[in-house]
Amino acid sequence: MAHDESQTESRTSYITCPLCEATCGLEVVTSGPEVVSIRGNKNDVFSHGYICPKAYALKELHSDPDRVRSPMIRAGKSWREVTWDEAFAEIERRLTPILSEHGRDSVAAYLGNPTVHNLSSQLYNAVLLRALASVNIYTASTVDQMPKQVSCGLMFGHFLSIPIPDVDNTDYLLILGANPLISNGSLLTAPDMRGRLRREQECCPFFSFSVAAEATTIRVDVAVPDGADECLDEFERMATSALATRSERN
Ligand code: SF4
Repeated sequence: MAHDESQTESRTSYITCPLCEATCGLEVVTSGPEVVSIRGNKNDVFSHGYICPKAYALKELHSDPDRVRSPMIRAGKSWREVTWDEAFAEIERRLTPILSEHGRDSVAAYLGNPTVHNLSSQLYNAVLLRALASVNIYTASTVDQMPKQVSCGLMFGHFLSIPIPDVDNTDYLLILGANPLISNGSLLTAPDMRGRLRREQECCPFFSFSVAAEATTIRVDVAVPDGADECLDEFERMATSALATRSERN
């Protein structure tokens, strides 16, 4: 969070939460370098004031004494803060021989979640990783949503061509292998998933599924609300049609 060290009066800034794809609007009050409060921005046309506990915790994260505030070099078991010039000199001294002796793939990079939602790091990381030219790039996605990205790459030609359902205006919401209440609408880019599903349920009944994979068997438990027989018939028709299409392709 950028701040002016000399500023002491209270100031309110409006930012987008950097922690996930739900992109909630935040209202951040600061006093100098201190974060006084973080709450949901009620005027945000997308999230309407909703935030989850992770965004509240940004205040603690910002003031955490263990947060890395400058480049650090490890010497044995201890770390020491260094200048950027020293850090770049150390990188050149130690990284260059590793790359020339063992090849580009001998180095791996890990990108944390907020870097994906930060324009500066998106811009510079892409250049850095291209220069590094290692196949070993890991991100929060590779331990989280990579199956989704692989399937989108195979189906739509690019791993970021991720279809986003219009949850607020959908007639049928069929969710398999995901729980948006746990993911908090992250990859759906839908803040306040619980509220959105509740509003959706008020205007039309929906099914909830829990899917359990046991060995080679996949069990699907379907919870059908009262009076939703018509929807169940429609689901059966859709499932039958999807299976028929798949067997025709095979
Ligand atoms: S749901 Fe995601 S974008 Fe919204 S406040 Fe939580 S972490 Fe931030």
